[in-house]
Amino acid sequence: MGEHSSQPPTDPLIAWHSLPVEEALASIVSHPLQGLTTPEAHQREQRFGRNSLPEGKQISLLRIFLSQFRSPLIYLLLMAGVIAQSLGHTTDAIVISVVVLLNAVIGTLQENRAERSLEGLRQLTPRQARVIRDGRQQILPASALVPGDILLLEAGDAVPADSRLCESANLQVTEAALTGESVPIAKSTRPVARELPVAERTNMVYAGTHVTAGRAHAVVVATGLATEIGDIAKLTQAASDGQTPLERRIAELGRMIMVLAAICFGLVIAIGSWRGMAFGDIVMIAISQVVGMIPEGLPVAMTVALACGVTRMARRHAVVRRLSAVETLGSTTVICSDKTGTLTRNEMTVTTIGLVDGAQVRTLIVSGVGYAPHGAIETDRVNESVADNIHLKRLLAAATLCNDANLAPPQADTRDWRPLGDPTEAALLTLALKAGLDIERLRAEQPRQNEIPFDAVTRAMLTQHQTETGSRLLIKGAPEVIFQLWQEPIESELRHAALQVAQSMAEQYLRVLAFAMIDPGHLMPHATINEFTGKAQLLGLIGQMDPPRLEARDSVAKCRAAGIRPIMITGDHKLTATAIARQLGIFTANETVMDGSELERLSDRELAANLDSIAAFARIRPAQKLRIVAALQQRGEIVAMTGDGVNDAPALSQADVGIAMGRTGTEIAKEAAKIVITDDNFATIVTAIEEGRVVYRNIKKALLLLLSTSAAEVVTLLLALLLGYPAPFSAIQILWNNLVTEGLITINLVMEPAEGDEMRRPAISPREPLLTRIMLIRLTSMLTSIVIVTLGWYLYRTASGIPHQQVQTETFTLLAICEWYNVLNCRSESATALRWDVLRNPWLLAGLLAGNLLQVAVVYWSPLGSIFRTTPLGLSEVVTLGLTGSLVLWIEECRKFLARRWSLPRSLASELR
Ligand code: ATP
Repeated sequence: MGEHSSQPPTDPLIAWHSLPVEEALASIVSHPLQGLTTPEAHQREQRFGRNSLPEGKQISLLRIFLSQFRSPLIYLLLMAGVIAQSLGHTTDAIVISVVVLLNAVIGTLQENRAERSLEGLRQLTPRQARVIRDGRQQILPASALVPGDILLLEAGDAVPADSRLCESANLQVTEAALTGESVPIAKSTRPVARELPVAERTNMVYAGTHVTAGRAHAVVVATGLATEIGDIAKLTQAASDGQTPLERRIAELGRMIMVLAAICFGLVIAIGSWRGMAFGDIVMIAISQVVGMIPEGLPVAMTVALACGVTRMARRHAVVRRLSAVETLGSTTVICSDKTGTLTRNEMTVTTIGLVDGAQVRTLIVSGVGYAPHGAIETDRVNESVADNIHLKRLLAAATLCNDANLAPPQADTRDWRPLGDPTEAALLTLALKAGLDIERLRAEQPRQNEIPFDAVTRAMLTQHQTETGSRLLIKGAPEVIFQLWQEPIESELRHAALQVAQSMAEQYLRVLAFAMIDPGHLMPHATINEFTGKAQLLGLIGQMDPPRLEARDSVAKCRAAGIRPIMITGDHKLTATAIARQLGIFTANETVMDGSELERLSDRELAANLDSIAAFARIRPAQKLRIVAALQQRGEIVAMTGDGVNDAPALSQADVGIAMGRTGTEIAKEAAKIVITDDNFATIVTAIEEGRVVYRNIKKALLLLLSTSAAEVVTLLLALLLGYPAPFSAIQILWNNLVTEGLITINLVMEPAEGDEMRRPAISPREPLLTRIMLIRLTSMLTSIVIVTLGWYLYRTASGIPHQQVQTETFTLLAICEWYNVLNCRSESATALRWDVLRNPWLLAGLLAGNLLQVAVVYWSPLGSIFRTTPLGLSEVVTLGLTGSLVLWIEECRKFLARRWSLPRSLASELR
């Protein structure tokens, strides 16, 4: 194609749907078999731009900053500022303004970081598109498509750009995103009238819609903003799902604390006035106090915790699409997992052939592993050249023709043969090559004329091919489906033998396909596979090995230890499923494997009653997955469910956590899922659950720290006032403590790494209260110890006649020290804080260090000292304060020691010690 002719028209008014295919291709200057060349595509990309829509609303830094000022905390602080100013305490007013600003800056930075890391993750699963460029099939990011690209579509794909169909086999598309109509629409290549609306242009497919069945080739005519969906500027990106359940519960708790804070505010003012303090001073103190109680740090801590979890999961191949999934994962009690690719490697190798050879079924063994055609078909007959066996030739020809896959030979960058398309089908091509078949020639000699594509419901696929004499039909699929089409009488010996061979293959873990032929045969439009019942001739069976993933066995054991039940749900045969489930430890002595037809006979109630004893479901149709999930949920289970196919979307949405497979999954499945596993591996699901539990724990750690320290501060203050002493800290000291000292450690606590015992504890019940019994016990003991230490010190030093400003400085510093010890306490519920593992959270160390330096600055640097009314402390006093504050640590250490002794299982306790 010349330089000049490669320029497609830009006229947006071209009605592509009214043009015949050839004319459309000529207008856009493309070729159906060759596609564009890479240089042409680059030229077009410069002209038409990338195929993407502007991202959803991006929150700017300024907006995040401004939003920091919209909180009751800030209103209160501003009020305090005004009161300070009106009392003539200008320095205090300035300090308050600086604190407000500092608080907003810290909040902005933290929130921005969380936002950005979440945003980055959204880009982690870019859409891909299969196209023909430079005359060969390629997988490109959807954003690289340009007008003129030849797009290959199949069931499960999301259409990446507006395109005119060039070739279509039973293509059905749902256009809900565009037209609101959710019923799939049948598409064909025939031109339609120019004036028809989008919804009726049946030869066009539009960006943002989904292919639910069939296959097609189409030429891209509009990309990016020029597409219909770009035109109406409707974003296809999934909307955010608002607050997660945990966020809601935290918000509720926050409201409760606000009420408590209001009560404390009243109490401080009442007691202060009763004790004859100046009203202005007492209001300032009360406000500072309330500021400390408002858990404004919690929502941010929560977002940061979730964002951290999401980042960690992404590093371990689990991409979170909905934030709520992170916490639900922590509560998961059942994982319903696919078999192929998730529990097995999805690396198919044909090992056995059951060949129908005259009146018998012969078993032939195939050597070699992987997709490389190195190996041979072995025969048990002397002097037989299997390659010349006419029956085998016919079977292998069917396996090659009734097949959409290709094999890529080793290239410079890959040393192995690679499957292109369905691995099950690619393995059949390897087999054909081992037998010396010329795939290209065969496919050229008997071109495909028509087809019924494979789908997981019928479990079969049919193609019609041109032959010298007319046309023939080739069918492949699950043995029981193909046997129904077989013309052999039910009671015949041959049928019996074939059944035996199929069964013994399945018992040896093999995935079995049967092949049949109808010759001559013709496929009428809209025909279904069932119409050929009793009309086909069986050619043989082919068994493929798909080795279990080695790591899956350990992951299954890990699940069980964590109180999570793994259940295998597969489309494969019961015997194959049983063999693999047993090998992976999913299937244990008292359990059973149920197949789809048995499930069909059970009522919902019977199913629920039997669930406990079922380790795996076999020959399951996608619709039945939905039933299984619903039955499990009815029993109170929190279900994580994997899926990859077009029809898995309803079950994925129904599950508490829908998990789509990143490699083999269809776009439809990915969009319905909350999590996408990029390596398709069962082990990754288990790690994601572990991360979910870590996040939940970390949020509770931050909650405990926040509640215990702010409550301790209030109680100390109230008790001192009640006992008739002046306030132990000044108003701005309290502010400093609440906003700087606490702020620097709470957030960093949520970044704690896993403690290691997450998967040896039962799942977290979603009904479990935020403040569990153990949390309340710890809260009370921490609060009491901090109050005893700070108030005790304050009373003792005051009684010793030390000047008030010094006592205040000491108490203020002691409070900070107690908080630093307490953050170490909060790191674990039962493990001692006296371990080097604190080094594993550099953020927390940095926060502690910064807190220390700032405290030193406030106490020793005179400009700050005069603002905060502090006096420099002597070394011996600082050491004494450090030792006294450590009581907070020792008390919690004792509690942990006793807890480890008494309430934990021995094995766990010894490990934590
Ligand atoms: P899982 O649901 O665990 O991934 P699966 O991959 O075995 O299991 P399906 O892909 O639905 O489930 O396949 C079900 C059955 O359909 C297979 O056991 C096989 O007999 C048959 N089958 C699979 N792929 C094809 C295909 N491309 N053409 C014809 N039949 C197929």
